[in-house]
Amino acid sequence: RRRERNIGPMVGNRLPKKMLALLKTAGELGRDMGWEIYAVGGFVRDILLGRPNSDLDLVVEGDAIAYARRMADLLGGRIKAHVKFKTAVVILADGQRVDVATARLEYYEYPAAMPTVELSSIKMDLYRRDFTINALALRINPGRFGQLVDFFGAEQDMKNKVIRVLHSLSFVEDPTRILRAIRFERRFDFQIGGQTLRLIKNALSLDLFSKLSGTRILHELQLIMVEENPLACLNRMQELGILEAIHPLLKLSGERMQVLMELVKVNNWYKLLYQKPEAEPWKLHLLGLTMGIKRDQIGQITSRLRLTAREERDFILLRDQIGEALMKLMSWREDRSRLSRLCAILRPIPLEGVLFLMARSKKEHIRRNISQYLNRLRDITSDVTGDDLKTLGIRPGPAYTTILARVLDAKIDGRATSREDQLRLVERLWRTMQRRGGAQCEGT
Ligand code: ATP
Repeated sequence: RRRERNIGPMVGNRLPKKMLALLKTAGELGRDMGWEIYAVGGFVRDILLGRPNSDLDLVVEGDAIAYARRMADLLGGRIKAHVKFKTAVVILADGQRVDVATARLEYYEYPAAMPTVELSSIKMDLYRRDFTINALALRINPGRFGQLVDFFGAEQDMKNKVIRVLHSLSFVEDPTRILRAIRFERRFDFQIGGQTLRLIKNALSLDLFSKLSGTRILHELQLIMVEENPLACLNRMQELGILEAIHPLLKLSGERMQVLMELVKVNNWYKLLYQKPEAEPWKLHLLGLTMGIKRDQIGQITSRLRLTAREERDFILLRDQIGEALMKLMSWREDRSRLSRLCAILRPIPLEGVLFLMARSKKEHIRRNISQYLNRLRDITSDVTGDDLKTLGIRPGPAYTTILARVLDAKIDGRATSREDQLRLVERLWRTMQRRGGAQCEGT
């Protein structure tokens, strides 16, 4: 049963002018090509919820790729087409992306398989989606602009704040929807509906997760980890036994939760101070989630999540570096003259590891000094350069690295703050090295 309602005025009020103009133009183009065009998915959901969303998804009852080409010609942009899926992305000159899909029916050859595609209408397109709130369409052709198409009672579910699947095989078709249900539930402060929750539990008892590829799980986990409150999602996953269904070693213990909470705080603090570079959320959270897992078992997690060989190597190395740094930090004493030592411990470690160490450290002075490191120490550079060394007659070679590193340490520790002090130190160091007969001097 089709339910339509005009929400044109709401669309006009809630969308930024530029987006509204884009929608109108997209609708006119549909009319010119003789096809019905719909905005769909999260974009429409968020108009109704009054939340900003600039990810525009369009569905064309016609040829999406031909439509995307015309849109790119008309507005100035380029397209990337996926012929197999009959979809395209238009990237406009100002960077705005428009995803365009052909209204389609998806067949699932076996549970949790990737879909193959066949042509069909908007209702079938919406029926293959995850939840009612994501299965709304908005007509944008002129004359019908702003007609909301709601086949599955999405508006009612929004009023009741419920996440509900469209049919009882939904999680069998695609178990990643379980993770999506949790993500939307926590994001909007909704509740997963009773029947939907039973279907989740049923899917878990059928062990559907074990058939799911690590790549897809990791993708959904990554989406969770960039949510405003990823820990609420992880908690809910734990409550429903989902983390353990992904891998038994991923149980969310109290200790892991504690560190994850600290990690979120530390990372928020860091993001407030610096826009770039950002810590990669999945790495950060995975460090917390895998805390305490032994080195010879960590491969089980990285292969379950199908990390690439490089990601796996980097992640294992990162954990090793953290372990080593934790040992060294235990014996590090707070002292201005030992700050260079702290830098030496932290410098080789990627940002995610440094933030993890900060979150993990129970000792206040360690946290304070790591924050100093991020704030100030890591950016200190010495005031003498290789050119200065050359001017002083030192022949370029390995001695340069040693001398410049020692000078930097001296500056960090406050032993040679001015350039003059640092130049004097260079000369002293060089004389000592020469006495030891290590290197050669040019011209002197
Ligand atoms: P977000 O606000 O997090 O971007 P979204 O709803 O836009 O949420 P996307 O992952 O961009 O989510 O997906 C776009 C649309 O595609 C969704 O609204 C939903 O209708 C559909 N969709 C995405 N993933 C699935 C899935 N696994 N099963 C069914 N439908 C899906």
